[in-house]
Amino acid sequence: MDLTFTPSETAFRDELRGWLADNDPGPEPHGDEHAHFAWRLDWQRRLAAAGWSGVHWPVEHGGRGATLTESAIFFEELANRRAPLPGNVLGLLLAGPTIMTWGDEAQRERHLGPILTGEEVWCQGFSEPDAGSDLAAVKTRAARDGDGWTITGQKVWTSYAHHARWCMLLARTDPASERHRGLTYFLLDMEQDGVEVVPLRQITGESHFNELFLDGARATDAQVLGGEGNGWRVAMTTLSNERSGLAFFHQVRMRQLVDALAAELAERGGLDDPRTADALADVAAQVEVLRLTAYRGLTRLERTGEPGPESALTKLMWSRANQALTQLAVDALGPDALTAGSRWSYELLRARGNTLEGGTTEILKNIAAQRVLGLPRAS
Ligand SMILES: Cc1cc2nc3c(=O)[nH]c(=O)nc-3n(C[C@H](O)[C@H](O)[C@H](O)COP(=O)(O)OP(=O)(O)OC[C@H]3O[C@@H](n4cnc5c(N)ncnc54)[C@H](O)[C@@H]3O)c2cc1C
Repeated sequence: MDLTFTPSETAFRDELRGWLADNDPGPEPHGDEHAHFAWRLDWQRRLAAAGWSGVHWPVEHGGRGATLTESAIFFEELANRRAPLPGNVLGLLLAGPTIMTWGDEAQRERHLGPILTGEEVWCQGFSEPDAGSDLAAVKTRAARDGDGWTITGQKVWTSYAHHARWCMLLARTDPASERHRGLTYFLLDMEQDGVEVVPLRQITGESHFNELFLDGARATDAQVLGGEGNGWRVAMTTLSNERSGLAFFHQVRMRQLVDALAAELAERGGLDDPRTADALADVAAQVEVLRLTAYRGLTRLERTGEPGPESALTKLMWSRANQALTQLAVDALGPDALTAGSRWSYELLRARGNTLEGGTTEILKNIAAQRVLGLPRAS
C-alpha cells in the first residue's frame, strides 16, 4: 500500500481545497428534512456548475475523469469541509455508471446530464418485502403489453423515492423464471399513475425511505437497460458501484465525531475514567483501521483492476465502529446525549440502520468468510 500522493494527485487535492475554501455549502438545516435535501441538491448544482460533480465519471460523459485515488481525495475533502454528499448521490454513484456501462446512446444522452446536475433525482428499486439480502427472489412483475411493459408489485426501503423522478427498477419479465434468470432492469419514470410512493417513518423520526407500490405502471422498450432478461447482470453493475468512495467520506466523518466526543468528555472530566478513555481509544483505532483498509482496497484496485473484498470489509467496519462510537457517546455522556433532537441521540438512532443498508452484517461476514478466509459456502 502506498499512501503518498503523486504530484498530479496533490495538484488535484489543492485545486479542490481552493474551490471548497471559496465555496461554503452554508449551514446545515436541522429539523426539516425537505430543507435538508434541498440544501444537498443545491450543493450538487454548485459542484456541477464548477465541474466537481461526478468527478469519477469519464470526461466524455461530463465528469472529470478522476482516478480512483483522486475520487477518494474528493470524498475525504468533502467530509473535511463538513460539506454534505450531493443530493442525487444514488444517481451519481449507481444509476450513472450503470447507464454508462449498459445504456445505448439515447439512454446515455437522455439521462447522464440531469443526473450530474441533480436536476433529476434517482432512487433504487431493488428490495421488496420478501427480497432483500436474497435479491434474486424479486417478484415485481413486468408483463409485455403492446409496445411496452406493464409493471405490478411492491418495493420497499426505497431511499429518496419521494424526491425521485427516475427509479432503477428490477422486475421479473419471465413469469416462469426462477432466481436471477428472467429479470429485467428498467429505467422507470416515477411521474405517472400506477406509481405510488408512501414514506416510511424511521426511528430518527425522518422519512428518508419509502414503500413503492406499482400498480399498472408503464415502461417502454426504450426504458429497458441492458436488454430483456439481462437484469441480474445489470443489477450487479449497480451493486458493484454501491460502496465506491463512500468509505473515504465516512471515515473522515467518524473521525470528526470521535474528536467531538473526546472534546466533550474532556470538558466534563469523563476521560479521567480509564474505562471510558479505553473505549474511546478503541473506537479511534477502529476508525484508523477503516481508513487504512479503504486505502488498501484502493491500491489493490489500481494495481489489478479488480475490486477486492475490502469494500465489503470497509462497510462492515464502518457500521460496527459507528454503532460502537454512538453507543459510547450515550454511555459516557449520560442522559444529556439522549435528549430528543440532540446530535448524539440522532447519531445513535441513525447508526442502527448501518448494519442493514448496503448489505447486512451477516451477508458481509459471509463474503469475508468465503473470499478472504477461503471457507466453504454455507449450505
Ligand atoms: C437506511 C436504509 C436504506 C435503504 N435504502 C434502500 C434503497 O434505496 N433501495 C433498496 O432497494 N433497498 C434499500 N434498503 C434495503 C436494504 O438493502 C435491505 O434492508 C437489506 O438488503 C436487507 O434486506 P431485508 O431488509 O429484506 O432483510 P433480510 O434479507 O430479510 O434479512 C433479515 C436478517 O436475516 C439475515 N440474513 C439474510 N440472509 C442471510 C444469509 N444468507 N446468511 C446469514 N444471515 C442472513 C440478515 O443479515 C438480517 O439480519 C435500505 C435499507 C436501509 C436500512
